[in-house]
Amino acid sequence: MVDIAAYLKRQQKEGRLRQLPGLLHPDGGRVRLEAVAHDLLDFSSNDYLGLTRHPLLLVAAAEALSRYGTGAGAARLMSGDFELHRELELALARLKEQEAALLFGSGYLANIGLIPALVGRHDVIFSDKLNHASIQDGCRLAGARLHRFAHNDCNHLEDLLKRHRGAKEALIVVESLYSMDGDICPLADVVTLKERYGCLLLVDEAHATGLFGDNGAGLLAAEGLAHRVDLVMGTLGKALGSYGAYVAGEQRLISFLLNRARSFIFSTALPPASAAAALAAVELLAAEPQLRQDLWHRVEIFKSGLTHGGVEADLGPSQIVPLVVGENQATLALARRLQERGIYATAVRPPTVPAGQARLRFSVTNHLDIEDLSAAAAIIATELLQR
Ligand SMILES: *Cc1c(COP(=O)(O)O)cnc(C)c1O
Repeated sequence: MVDIAAYLKRQQKEGRLRQLPGLLHPDGGRVRLEAVAHDLLDFSSNDYLGLTRHPLLLVAAAEALSRYGTGAGAARLMSGDFELHRELELALARLKEQEAALLFGSGYLANIGLIPALVGRHDVIFSDKLNHASIQDGCRLAGARLHRFAHNDCNHLEDLLKRHRGAKEALIVVESLYSMDGDICPLADVVTLKERYGCLLLVDEAHATGLFGDNGAGLLAAEGLAHRVDLVMGTLGKALGSYGAYVAGEQRLISFLLNRARSFIFSTALPPASAAAALAAVELLAAEPQLRQDLWHRVEIFKSGLTHGGVEADLGPSQIVPLVVGENQATLALARRLQERGIYATAVRPPTVPAGQARLRFSVTNHLDIEDLSAAAAIIATELLQR
């Protein structure tokens, strides 16, 4: 049994204690903290396209709510299977250029369900070192031999494949856009290796879905690789503005997961209103490419503001902008100073990122307007350089 009091005290001392921020949400782009008198610009949200408050999602969710009620009432395989779920699965499969898709309660549930369904004790997994906690937990639950390769390093991956591919089934897992570093996986190289060594490949597109490629299909589709992966998963809770998640692939794999993924089988289906909102979002991605153009314009404004302010770090290729500070306490202190100046960004600390690489993670969303973004970039640059 852990000494709970000692644990909490140690976490506090090391600047690792997790606490709820206690936020109020006056509107989509701002948050209010009880301890701070003014509103703060929200740079912590993954609602990249600003869809959580889009009129079409609100109407779709409200209609589903009044028609079907607040919950699905049961798992899909019981009586929780609604027409809206099946429609959403078809729309997601089409978006991801796959035959079929299956909904999960969340991205976390998807990863901890589908990885153990695919591989087991006698198999082997090759996983990027920076993969999300849900992937790591899925790998642990699978019980397969786990080999972690250096982040985005295909030479290291191939080296591990050469030495350890022997087992019955082999699974490679990557993210297409990494959530804490905002950098992109060399997907074409990973696909080549998957084919050369006869492995299954699972790609997590949690942060790329909605943003890249025609119709916001994601990075795999943008790079013309959708047909060369086995499974792609993503969440409905980030750019799609709802809640829940999906995995997409060949029909036979989806039928297999429906039979085997325990976090699908033994968990209540998505609330119909969440499914309706996500379905409206998928339709919007095709109908309003302007949503993506607006976001990339904002990302450009924010990054050029930081650069003009004197920040020399590589700001990366995406809407996620990490500024590595180093030590935990220094990162927390900077986060607090930014809060005083009206900016809310998450301090990401170990174990979420490697020790000594604590950082502030800024995510740009369509909720933030252009003037606010350039003013914020100037403030962030000043505070970072004065440190
Ligand atoms: C957020 C995230 C998940 C989990 O998705 P939820 O729907 O929030 O549970 C999985 N993988 C990655 C890479 C993520 O960033």
